[in-house]
Amino acid sequence: MAQSVKGTRDLFGKELDWFQRIEDTARRAFHRHGYREIRTPILEEIEVFKRSVGESSDIVHKEMYDFVDKGGRHVAMRPENTAGVVRAAIQHRMLEASDPQLLYYIGPMFRYERMQAGRYRQFWQIGAESFQVSTPESEAESLVMLYDFLRELGLEHLSFSINSVGTPECRPAFHEAFRAFFQAREAQFCDDCHRRIQENPLRVLDCKNASCQVALEGHPVMVDFLDPASREHHARLKEVLTELGLPFQENPRLVRGLDYYTRTAFEVLSSDLGAQSALLGGGRYDGLVKQLGGPQVAAFGWSIGLDRLAMLMQQLHGETRGAALPVLIPLGPVAALKALALARTWWAQGAAFTLETRGSALKKALTTANRTGAPLALLLGEGELEKGEVTVKDLAAGTQAAWTWDEVAERLRAHQD
Ligand code: AMP
Repeated sequence: MAQSVKGTRDLFGKELDWFQRIEDTARRAFHRHGYREIRTPILEEIEVFKRSVGESSDIVHKEMYDFVDKGGRHVAMRPENTAGVVRAAIQHRMLEASDPQLLYYIGPMFRYERMQAGRYRQFWQIGAESFQVSTPESEAESLVMLYDFLRELGLEHLSFSINSVGTPECRPAFHEAFRAFFQAREAQFCDDCHRRIQENPLRVLDCKNASCQVALEGHPVMVDFLDPASREHHARLKEVLTELGLPFQENPRLVRGLDYYTRTAFEVLSSDLGAQSALLGGGRYDGLVKQLGGPQVAAFGWSIGLDRLAMLMQQLHGETRGAALPVLIPLGPVAALKALALARTWWAQGAAFTLETRGSALKKALTTANRTGAPLALLLGEGELEKGEVTVKDLAAGTQAAWTWDEVAERLRAHQD
């Protein structure tokens, strides 16, 4: 029997209920802020990722799902969506006027990852990007949207971790100081860090290796090397976050895994499941649009993994409410036809319920209703047809009532709320 491809999975049932609930909450939050959805293709030319995410990054270096198609094009299944959004924004000339562009996406991403808990080769991200806005206030607007979205999902123990990674102009002085620091203790760093110090020294700060993190003790910090404008930007962001009451802490080792970030880098930490861990990250990437062949444009964005968030929601809240619906059970062929007609009007009036269409005997229909967790069974037999009623069995309480056809839709709606 065929199985889903390693690292991919089918989404259904309770897990998908959470995915949908999160997606709906995200869309509402983003639309309130004036962000509009963008859907870019899953396949992009591989160059889009090489030129943005960077050839030295683990994502491109080790994890790309890429192949040569039948036409000889070297394409990749997107490992993230920022590069594709920027490619699209340039292609459709969305960035030529100086007006802000506020965009969000929701969709699957692909990375050829080593198998571990909670990491998939096809996973989902929700992200938001704002273009043509460069102020700390614009960053705060995006962070407020993100924070309120997560709060709306019921997460309570959230805080931001922030840093500035400077600009290409002020980074060389930092790199020089950092390389000197690294060389003085290079034997303590892993092989990957030796590669990183050549290709992108900031990435050493990001190393997951515990011994590298120890070796980093006392390292030079980027915020000491910022140019005056970047320093002011960073100070202002902290001031605005403080004013708004958004909890944050500074983390000089926070760099994000990607090449195109400038100035603000951040993560959202959550302790909703005990130990504090990063839920997501993002930052400013003023260099990316130009790097991909567009104009010089300010940009800020973030993305959150939906798989992990759905798992967190499930652990925190259990099942989503109202997964199983009431069921309307007609008894006999005359009732079956009438039930279809009645159901149609009740559905049109906004009631949600399933219709038993198998023509089953009452016993079998009730067994199914109980097994699937239906809260109510609405019975339509000969007696009910004559009186214009349904008999309503509350399957949890074991009680029974009669509702007239006129009141069914309203009562079911009240039951849903
Ligand atoms: P990144 O693009 O690596 O900064 O990750 C952004 C978000 O995507 C984070 O919230 C991650 O948890 C999530 N994510 C990244 N890779 C995977 C994966 N292979 N499986 C599940 N979630 C992932």
